[in-house]
Amino acid sequence: MWNYSFVLPSLMVLCVFLVYYLRSPRLPVRVNRTFLCVLLLQLALVVTDVLSSFADENYTSFSDATLYVLNMAFFVLFLARIYWFYLFTQDVLRFRRSNAPRLVMMSHGFFAMVELITLSSFVTGAVFYIDQGYHRGPLYNILYIAFFLYISLSLVLAFRYSGRLSRHELLSVVGYNAALFVGNIVRILLPRYLVMNTFCMLAIVIIYLSFENPDLYRSEQGEGFNLRALRDVLEEYSDGKPYRIMGVVLENYVDERGIYGGRQMDRGIAMIAEYLSSEFPNDMLFYVRGGRFVLMGGPDMDWDGMRRRVNARFQQPWKADDVDMFLNVGYVLMESGSEQCAVERVISSLMIAFDRVGRSGSVDDNTIDAQTMKEIDRQVDVKRALEQALEQDAVEVFLQVLVDSHTRRVAGAEALARIWDADGKIISPTTFIPIAEKGGYINLLGEQVFEKTCRFIRENELDKLGLKWINVNLSPIQCMRKDLNGRFMEILTRYGVDPGVIHLEITEESMVDYEILEKQIDALRENGFNFALDDYGSGYSNLTRVKRYPFFNIKLDMELVRDYCRERDKLLPNLINAFKQMGFTITAEGIETEEMAEIMTDVGCDYLQGFLFSKPISMDDFLKKYGRQSA
Ligand code: C2E
Ligand code: MG
Ligand code: MG
Repeated sequence: MWNYSFVLPSLMVLCVFLVYYLRSPRLPVRVNRTFLCVLLLQLALVVTDVLSSFADENYTSFSDATLYVLNMAFFVLFLARIYWFYLFTQDVLRFRRSNAPRLVMMSHGFFAMVELITLSSFVTGAVFYIDQGYHRGPLYNILYIAFFLYISLSLVLAFRYSGRLSRHELLSVVGYNAALFVGNIVRILLPRYLVMNTFCMLAIVIIYLSFENPDLYRSEQGEGFNLRALRDVLEEYSDGKPYRIMGVVLENYVDERGIYGGRQMDRGIAMIAEYLSSEFPNDMLFYVRGGRFVLMGGPDMDWDGMRRRVNARFQQPWKADDVDMFLNVGYVLMESGSEQCAVERVISSLMIAFDRVGRSGSVDDNTIDAQTMKEIDRQVDVKRALEQALEQDAVEVFLQVLVDSHTRRVAGAEALARIWDADGKIISPTTFIPIAEKGGYINLLGEQVFEKTCRFIRENELDKLGLKWINVNLSPIQCMRKDLNGRFMEILTRYGVDPGVIHLEITEESMVDYEILEKQIDALRENGFNFALDDYGSGYSNLTRVKRYPFFNIKLDMELVRDYCRERDKLLPNLINAFKQMGFTITAEGIETEEMAEIMTDVGCDYLQGFLFSKPISMDDFLKKYGRQSA
């Protein structure tokens, strides 16, 4: 007697899964196709299992041919199911079958061989035969061997490629394979209980929760897929399948969100997503947050036509809660290249291009071509170098002297951060500082530079080097941090350094958030720091603001100095005069020739900085070069 009591619940759960799964939007990727095969095989198996067991039990009522067909169907499907589970493991591991042809040939070959042996049972009775009912054949166990083999292979692959999975995903792979393993053992021990299907269902539930739940891939806005889904699709296309992408980005998204409010904006996003997916039903739609949509389609995607249609729609407002939202869009266009690109590289390019277009405030689009990719690669390399340098505390501080314009003797120095790329080439701070600011590393970087400067001051007597002070640059973003003062004071105390010998350079740009900055400067000045205004004349020149701050020194921007040396005017001498009357000392940056030095001295600058005197050099070189001043 067979015990069927486990079958019905399994069948019901399976049907729910199938309906739910088939109704949800699915990504057209291999792992999903494989999972669908597993579900369908499971359904077919549950049915054939019941039918064949029933027929075997009541064999007198069935012809031998019917018994053969039903049992054959069961065994063929039984093997196919475990094989597709194994293929599923390969797919979640993003295992490229073309990279391991021998393994693929062997596992396909073994599968085909066992299926053939099973089919041959019609004639040979190898796996089973019908003679007054159903009987096991001499090679019956080959099915169990195949079963254990594919589970073992799945586990070996999972551990071999475990780096591609999160911990949770790895546990899930082990979990569903363990469920299958136990199911098979139970089947061997209790062959008359149709319980194997229940264990397979358990495996399917684990897979569904960890990998196949559509919510994992759906964008929060409902319509369209999310970034994780985009990554998976790009992964699928990364072996050379051609595609085109049109990114649609809402310009100045953060500002617009501020204007219309978060709830309103979310409604708007949902409406735009709905519009895009119904307007372009043949393309896949992704929403990757921050007002950025990605439409992905075949190589024949008509960018111009699509842009025209989207532009026309954006001429109209988006109505949410009776509020008309007028939004501007920009576009990012991208095409699969002839060379294969790593998925992360494609995603970073997209995101950087999105950033550019989203911020530009113009409707221009941005086509990601080979040149853009190269620039982006460079940014990614720089970011990596920066992270590594910060992690290993390997940011180096170079020093460049500032000389007294009248005596031409060293007066101070500016600390300038340096990092190196993988080839050992110096990366310019003009490249890595903005990346540090955007990536949230600037505080750490600023502290490391500050700390190294303090260490230098403690280990070397400044006056013996001819230095009265050292300038340290402060980024606007550092200034926004409330605990800046406390952290700098802690470092100063640790190194026993007098704050009076450190001048903090800030740029005019950092004077944008006036109130916070004023408080910050006041607090730092109370603790004894002096301030210099860096790059004066390069950006926002606002005399009223300058007037309000008790700067020690104003540094004229290199370009301003260069322009004046090229063509004299009345403005600069008067400006310098005014600053001096306000009590500031003046430094001219970018002095490269003796002539420039003379001109800027004559016009009233107190200090000069530039390649004429020295380029920024390492602390060791600085000590070698200026250490003799003590004599
Ligand atoms: P900055 O503060 O205005 O620094 C002066 C820059 O001018 C330095 O560039 C220096 O090498 C360069 N320079 C000096 N004399 C001459 C000259 O005669 N001719 C020319 N062509 N250039 C000269 P560097 O080191 O590349 O730094 C660029 C900028 O990066 C700095 O401009 C500063 O804004 C920023 N920076 C550097 N280190 C740090 C840091 O530790 N923290 C922060 N927040 N910013 C830093
Ligand atoms: Mg500076
Ligand atoms: Mg400067």
